[in-house]
Amino acid sequence: MIQLPNQKLSNYAIAQLKKYYQKVLNQTSFKAKVVEAKRIWDNASKTNKTFLEIKEKLTEMCSGSQRCCYCEDAPADEIEHIAPKNIYPLLCFSWSNYLYACGICNGPKNNKFAVFLKSNEAFKDITPPKGKCPVPPKGSPVLINPRKENPLDFLFLDLKNTFHFVPLPDDKTSKAYKRAEYTICVLRLNKRDSLVSSRRTAFGSYEARLKTYITEKQSGKTEIKLQKMIEGIQTERHVTVFKEMQRQYVLFGFFKDLFDPIPEALNW
Ligand SMILES: [Zn+2]
Repeated sequence: MIQLPNQKLSNYAIAQLKKYYQKVLNQTSFKAKVVEAKRIWDNASKTNKTFLEIKEKLTEMCSGSQRCCYCEDAPADEIEHIAPKNIYPLLCFSWSNYLYACGICNGPKNNKFAVFLKSNEAFKDITPPKGKCPVPPKGSPVLINPRKENPLDFLFLDLKNTFHFVPLPDDKTSKAYKRAEYTICVLRLNKRDSLVSSRRTAFGSYEARLKTYITEKQSGKTEIKLQKMIEGIQTERHVTVFKEMQRQYVLFGFFKDLFDPIPEALNW
């Protein structure tokens, strides 16, 4: 997961989302707000003009060829509410609460959510029981939000052995550690064998592409050809694998054979 680039919506789409938000807000009880949010969502999100624009903008945020913003592996085709609409109906039509995800990530994540309680900072799983929609307690989200934060500030990807994500902070009692742990678990980033193996394959592919680039550059290939190769690297799946390779070179001096001859690749 990488931090997603910001995209702006048109004034029309912003106004439409505000209208939907107002309709939800006008409901008196919390349960009625949830019901209204879901009703409008089911009617509007499939085909209407606002959501066609939203899907277009979310597509531009995806890495590779429209890869899921969580796993970076499968194609993204579902608008995901980072904070679930069943728990936060007032965020159902909030642009900054959306990202494009695949069904494999979005389905199991569903209404899973946790907060650090405002009252005592304790971790609290607030996933609602099936068919129920209790008012959530006040608190800050535990799940890392790639629309607002850089997931690599919390996560470390082991490129040497396991290709698993692990929490970056050392202090297991820190909020940052717990956020990383929770995010890895809820999105099942290490549990899916095919996903882990796909990250390993992506690493091999980045390695091969960089080596070819070095050879081609040294043999005097034209700028146009080299640029095409850079674009090939930038549109690969699993952009986080590449970002982590860059980071581990800078921090630990790993992958010297790949980046020493072409330090410009650190900015790709
Ligand atoms: Zn996914």
